[in-house]
Amino acid sequence: MEYCSTRDRKRNVSAAQAIAQGISVDGGLFTPVSLPRITPEQLREMMNMPYTQRAERVMGLFLPDYTAEEIRACVAQAYDVRKFGGTPAPLTRLDDQVSVLELWHGPTCAFKDMALQILPHLMTRALEKSDDAGEAVILVATSGDTGKAALEGFKDVPGTRMVVFYPEHGVSNMQKLQMRTQEGENVAVCAIEGNFDDAQTGVKQIFTDPDMVQALKENGMQFSSANSINWGRLLPQIVYYFSAYCDWAAEDPARFGTPINFVVPTGNFGNILAGYYARCMGLPVNRLICASNANNVLTEFIRTGVYDRNRLFYATESPSMDILVSSNLERLLFELSGHDSAQTAGYMQLLQKHGKYKIGTGLRNKMQQVFYGDCCTDAEGRAALGGVFARYGYLMDTHTAVAYGVYQKYVRNTGDEAPTVIVSTASPYKFADAVLRSIGAQVPEDDFERLTLLSERSGTPVPAPIAGLQTQTVRFNDRCGKDEMKEKVWDLLDLSR
Ligand SMILES: *Cc1c(COP(=O)(O)O)cnc(C)c1O
Repeated sequence: MEYCSTRDRKRNVSAAQAIAQGISVDGGLFTPVSLPRITPEQLREMMNMPYTQRAERVMGLFLPDYTAEEIRACVAQAYDVRKFGGTPAPLTRLDDQVSVLELWHGPTCAFKDMALQILPHLMTRALEKSDDAGEAVILVATSGDTGKAALEGFKDVPGTRMVVFYPEHGVSNMQKLQMRTQEGENVAVCAIEGNFDDAQTGVKQIFTDPDMVQALKENGMQFSSANSINWGRLLPQIVYYFSAYCDWAAEDPARFGTPINFVVPTGNFGNILAGYYARCMGLPVNRLICASNANNVLTEFIRTGVYDRNRLFYATESPSMDILVSSNLERLLFELSGHDSAQTAGYMQLLQKHGKYKIGTGLRNKMQQVFYGDCCTDAEGRAALGGVFARYGYLMDTHTAVAYGVYQKYVRNTGDEAPTVIVSTASPYKFADAVLRSIGAQVPEDDFERLTLLSERSGTPVPAPIAGLQTQTVRFNDRCGKDEMKEKVWDLLDLSR
C-alpha cells in the first residue's frame, strides 16, 4: 500500500511518511494509490468484534509499514473505555428506518476525538520510522472543535509539541473555556485578534516560512499537521462506517447486505469522504447525503458541478460547518477522475486564482450517483432538533440537527425508503444555548445554568468533561495580533535566533 499526491500521482510515499508529513510538498493531499476491499464474509466476521478489533482490521489494510502489534497498541491507547466511557461509536435507533451514530463520547464531546485520539500515536510511530525524525511541532488554527480535540489528543505525548490559535470572537464560550483550561506540558493556546481565516492564513504562512523551517531543523524539530488534510485523520474515520453497518445489521441479521444511507453534517468534507472510501471498499452504502448549513457551497457543487467560494460567509448555530473551502473535496475529485492528478491540480489552481471551478458532466454524473446534497437554515435546523425531541425524546446537537433536517427534505424529494444512519458529530451540551432555544426553553444567562437546565429537560447527564470545566483553572491568557503569530510561535518553542 502506497500513497500518492493528488496533484502528482507519481509522487509516492509510505503510509508513515504520509502521516508524518501531513501534506505533500506540491500542496496536494496524500491518498492511497489503490483501495483495499472488504468482502461480505469479512464484514460479517466483523459483526462479532468490539470496536477496537474492527479498527485494527480496517486500519491494518492501509498501514503495511506498521506492525500488527503497533496498530493494536495505537488503537488500545486511543479508544480506551476510560476515555470513551464504553464503546466509542454507539448506534441509537430512532425508529425502523432511522438510527443515529453517536461519535461524541470522547474526551472533548465532538467527533474529532475519533481521529485525534489516535493520530498522535500513529504520528509518533511514523516519526520513529522516518530517518530524520525530530520532535513534531503541530500548529493548529481552529474554529472551535478541532483545537480542543487536538490538544487533548497530543497533551503530554512524547516527541510532540502543539500550538493552537483560535479567533478571539469566533468560538463559543464553552469552546474557549475548553481550550484555555487545557492541561499538558507540551501544549500552548493563543487567541488572535481576527477571524478564523486570519488564524488559518497565519498558520499556513508559518508552515512555509523559510526562517522558521530552518530554525526548527536546527533545533531538531519539524512541522506537521493535525488538520483533516492529514491521512492519519481520515483513516480512523473509515472504521466507524463499517462499525455502524455491523451494529445496524446485528439488530436483524436478515438485513445483512442491504445498502443503507448515511447523512453527514459536513464542513471540510473529511467525515463524508471517509464514508465514500468505505463504500469503495465494498461496504453496502446506498447514498451519502451531504448536509450543509447556510454556507451551502457543497449543496450547489453536488447539484451543478460548480464550486464557487465567492459568496457571503454566514456565522451559524452549527459553527463547525461554517466553511467555504472544503479541503478534502480535492481527494474526491482525484478519486472520481480515476486518479487524474493533472486535472485535480487544474481545478485547485482555478480555486486558488478565481475561487471557482466547474467539473465536467462525466465527473458530475459519477458524483451524483453516490452523493446527494442539501442544506438547512438555522431556523430549519432548530425545527428539526425540536421535532426529533418532541417525537422521540432524543436530544441532538445543532450540527446533527442540520443532518436530520436535510434527511427529511431528502425523503420528501426522492421517496427513498432505504434504512438510514444520521451521523451525529457533537454532544448537545457543547451548544446548550441554541439547543435550549430549539426545544422551546428559556435560556439562562449563565453557561453552567444552561447545562443544568438542559439536563433536567432531557433527562440526560451533563458529560463529565463539560461539567468539569466549571472548577478548572484557566492556564492560557495569551492573545496576539494576526501579524504577531510567527513571533509567538518562535517564543513558545524557545527557538534561538
Ligand atoms: C468538524 C465538524 C463537522 C464537519 O466535519 P468535516 O469532516 O469537516 O466535514 C461537523 N460537525 C461537528 C460538530 C464538527 O466538529
